[in-house]
Amino acid sequence: MGNDIPAQRGPLVKCPTCGRNVHYDSGSPFRPFCSERCRLIDLGTWADESYRIPESTPRDGGLPSDSDD
Ligand SMILES: [Zn+2]
Repeated sequence: MGNDIPAQRGPLVKCPTCGRNVHYDSGSPFRPFCSERCRLIDLGTWADESYRIPESTPRDGGLPSDSDD
C-alpha cells in the first residue's frame, strides 16, 4: 500500500446534492455528483418541480430600487 503513484485526478468539486468532494475527471462518471444516487436525487428534485419559484413570491423588479448614480 502506498507503492502506487495515484493517477492524476481532476480538480475537486462539491457534489451539488450532498456537498462531498468529487474529482472532476473521468474517474467520476457521475460528476459533478459523487454518485449516481446523488445525481438521481438532483434530477428527481427538478422533475418534482421543487425548485420552481412559487408564483406568489413577489419579484423585485418593478421599481429600480438601487440606482448606480
Ligand atoms: Zn453526493
